[in-house]
Amino acid sequence: MSAKIIDGKTIAAELRARVGNEVRRLGEERGLVPGLAVVLVGNNPASEVYVGAKKKMTLDSGMRSLDHRLPQTATEPELMALVERLNGDRAVHGILVQLPLPGHIDAGKVLGTIDPNKDVDGFHPMNAGRLATGLPALVPCTPYACVLLAKTIHPSLAGLEAVVIGRSNIVGKPLIQLLLKDNATVTVTHSQTRNLPAVCRRADLLFAAIGRPELVTAAFIKPGATVIDVGINRVEADGKRRIVGDVAYAEASMVAGAITPVPGGVGPMTIACLLVNTLRAACAIEGLPPPAV
Ligand code: NAP
Repeated sequence: MSAKIIDGKTIAAELRARVGNEVRRLGEERGLVPGLAVVLVGNNPASEVYVGAKKKMTLDSGMRSLDHRLPQTATEPELMALVERLNGDRAVHGILVQLPLPGHIDAGKVLGTIDPNKDVDGFHPMNAGRLATGLPALVPCTPYACVLLAKTIHPSLAGLEAVVIGRSNIVGKPLIQLLLKDNATVTVTHSQTRNLPAVCRRADLLFAAIGRPELVTAAFIKPGATVIDVGINRVEADGKRRIVGDVAYAEASMVAGAITPVPGGVGPMTIACLLVNTLRAACAIEGLPPPAV
């Protein structure tokens, strides 16, 4: 039996449409247009693509998109000064500094400069701490996307065995917190985990956020499990370049009950979650009730 495909593209389009409706309502009732500032340093080709997609979706949803481009040679103080300026700009409700940053810039320092109320990527230690302690927070978009996609299959995650492969600050760790909040039983694995396939085979919900092309084979998957593939890996085969996930999709989908494709799974949903965060940040900053999305 082939797994049900969790169609991130369609699910994300529905979420973006709901965001668009709320943005329209805020404009009509309050005269508020949420604004997202995206900062790109240098011209990493993948980052260019992400930033372009984010800009298009932001504008399509009726929000303001404010682009800030700095050259690869920009200094850390220059970037921090720009972030400080955006912190003080009333038209900006969300600030996203596209990663990775050039090696001479300390990303942690820059992200720590963003006003936590405008931290729509949810990477500021204040938001990470709030999430970990169960307080309301701006939550990192990719793990949030993973949970929303899993919930299209399991409306309640309570009591389910969830295994997360990867413990990065931007995906694995916040994902663990979100799953705990939803009462899943969570196991986190990483490069030092012994017998990874056996640990993963316990999972009703398996999340792969590794950055290793197709590491997760059918042997990692309990029959019928839901598999969420976060990986985006550029590979070359037969002279052709393509993008694959961390999961060997063809064989995994013969065992899993449901699975996200790459591309077309977590990626589009991540951008939709960024729009949700920007909308939420705008409402909170302007002292309005949280939006209905
Ligand atoms: P990362 O910071 O490099 O973290 C990778 C994690 O995987 C680490 O915790 C590492 O363990 C673990 N790992 C590496 N090799 C392993 C192995 N052989 N067995 C078990 N665990 C292993 O990566 P990331 O930023 O979390 O990103 C992960 C993937 O998601 C990448 O492909 C990235 O492109 C993708 N991504 C996609 C989106 C999206 O929107 N779809 C967003 C963000 C990231 P250690 O901690 O022990 O080193």
